[in-house]
Amino acid sequence: MRADKGRGENIFWISLAFALDIADNDNVSKQSGIPANPQRPALRKAPPSGSCLLTTAGRGVAGLSRKRNRKAADAKYRKAHRAEITASKAIYREAHKAQIAAYNAGYNKIHKTQKAIRGAKRYKEHKTQIAAQCTVYRKTHKIQTAATVAAWHKGHMDKVRDIKARRRALKAGATVEKVNRALVYERDSGRCHLCGRKVNPKKWHLDHIIPLSKGGEHSYRNVAVACPKCNMSKGAKVRGQLRLY
Ligand SMILES: [Zn+2]
Repeated sequence: MRADKGRGENIFWISLAFALDIADNDNVSKQSGIPANPQRPALRKAPPSGSCLLTTAGRGVAGLSRKRNRKAADAKYRKAHRAEITASKAIYREAHKAQIAAYNAGYNKIHKTQKAIRGAKRYKEHKTQIAAQCTVYRKTHKIQTAATVAAWHKGHMDKVRDIKARRRALKAGATVEKVNRALVYERDSGRCHLCGRKVNPKKWHLDHIIPLSKGGEHSYRNVAVACPKCNMSKGAKVRGQLRLY
């Protein structure tokens, strides 16, 4: 019982000394505005210079050094076991295909802009290599490429028609301007310039008022909305008036 009491007192005095020491070190008295007691001796002196005791800064330097050593050791290991690591990664990727795809999809959704910027930068820096890789891929994956192109065409019909019209005009040696079908549709209020009827927004023809074969140009001035029936019956005849804008 006595021994227990003695130990309890010791712990109390040690705790008090520790608390006072921390208070002194942290300049609590300064912060609270109460001057520190000059009579009270410092309970823990600063380590002399050259001492083996580590200060906070010392611990930082040691930590950094340990980190550097660990990094160097890791790099050395990776270099020596490159093949095993690659094989192990491939096994992991194969076994966790679905999780990796889900993670990538989530990441790409959140980081769309960053991904686009990175992609554009990479494309600019490696244009030739990427073109060569694409050529090889297209040659070795003919079916997949055709399917991808068909899907894109289906989703971008207006763009495809614009490209085709421009190509046809170029072939005919006409003056070619970049014409946006959607703008022409809006300008003509979706009405056929031959019969005046409203056309189906998904099935209308971009008609050249003066046909390309007759020297007409592919420009906003020489194109108009036409319903397929009127356009097909018109053929290469010049009908309607030339619009001037
Ligand atoms: Zn019509």
